[in-house]
Amino acid sequence: MAAGNDSHQKPTSSHPDSSSTTLPPLTPPTIQSSHPDAPSDFQTPPSPAPSATSLFSSTSLLMQQQTQKKKYKMATECVYVEPIGNVRDPYNAASMPIYQTATFKQHTATSEGEYDYSRSGNPTRSHLELHLAKLMSAQRALAVSSGMGCLDIITRLVPTSHEIIAGDDIYGGTQRLLTFLSTHNNIKVHHVDTTNPEAVRSVLNEKTRLVLLETPTNPLLRVVDVRGVARVVREVCGEGKAGKGCLVVVDNTMMSPYLQRPLEFGADIVYDSGTKYLSGHHDLMAGVVGCKDEAVGDKLYSIINATGCALPPFDSFLLMRGIKTLSVRMDRQQQNALLIATRLHSLSFRVNYPGLPSHPSHALHSSHSSGPGAVLSFTTGSVEKSERVVEGTRLWGIS
Ligand SMILES: *Cc1c(COP(=O)(O)O)cnc(C)c1O
Repeated sequence: MAAGNDSHQKPTSSHPDSSSTTLPPLTPPTIQSSHPDAPSDFQTPPSPAPSATSLFSSTSLLMQQQTQKKKYKMATECVYVEPIGNVRDPYNAASMPIYQTATFKQHTATSEGEYDYSRSGNPTRSHLELHLAKLMSAQRALAVSSGMGCLDIITRLVPTSHEIIAGDDIYGGTQRLLTFLSTHNNIKVHHVDTTNPEAVRSVLNEKTRLVLLETPTNPLLRVVDVRGVARVVREVCGEGKAGKGCLVVVDNTMMSPYLQRPLEFGADIVYDSGTKYLSGHHDLMAGVVGCKDEAVGDKLYSIINATGCALPPFDSFLLMRGIKTLSVRMDRQQQNALLIATRLHSLSFRVNYPGLPSHPSHALHSSHSSGPGAVLSFTTGSVEKSERVVEGTRLWGIS
């Protein structure tokens, strides 16, 4: 019942609504060379998108930046989409149309329009990203082609010979990418029990650039104290410390922004596999990244533009459509998961689900999430029994 197709692999190396969200500009800004919270030794080359820098430096777009705050409960905010800035359809379409175009014609040889090429920017994607920034309480949100695409662009912030700290019960695809980075890019990856902030402290040093968290973990549904880890990272690598520039990153796929918004309690970057809850219909691959800090968002934008993993217009439309029903689906799935977890627990299986009061981190999870989500796991005590359960289900596929 673990989410996703990637088989769970063990690491191979050592062991509620309140936010004021300023929305990002619609087109890529110039690269800002340094920001106090940004990894100091990471430089992005200039964006090749011709429209980007010139437009941003003309004051018109800056003046059109909108500040959008969540005004309603999350369930309402998921479906409530105001036209934002100049990302509005000229016909006032109630659903943002799919701008299925690779290029945008320019008016004159020297004045450039807001969009020029869909790798760099597309109105359907901008609309989605602005909506996501609001939901994720992010300063800037970006949509890419898969959840792993998110981790790819985020880990490109780590220069060679620097370090990443990750959990010891992590998504299989994450493990695969981290292993690739350590074997090909000379990046050291420490796997520790991230549910214990002191274990993170024990390997944090001036070379650490990312602390990568998942909460709850998949498949063991262990809960990470994101606030506690962020505090430790600030103590060791904060302003004025040697390792300044270490970012706390949370893979929020297991919860979605509807239930948990880590940027509100200490994370610098959050990402979700949009393939899962956000899309909700098994028909789309996508990934979404939210940044607390605009300068980090600019760097990630620049990497997306340089590498070409931005979410295409049709997929952006589908993801937007999925997000509008997120709360309704999540409420029901969560209700079902709790019933199933309770029943399995009463049958004496060992059930991992943060919604059960018997879960060791039930209180911690509730302190930063508005629900337990809809993923649970359980152990039966024997491989034979597990096979009988998995093969005996009629409604669930093995995937
Ligand atoms: C599925 C998943 C991913 C990867 O997302 P894709 O869209 O499949 O690339 C990352 N983390 C978690 C927790 C996932 O479940």
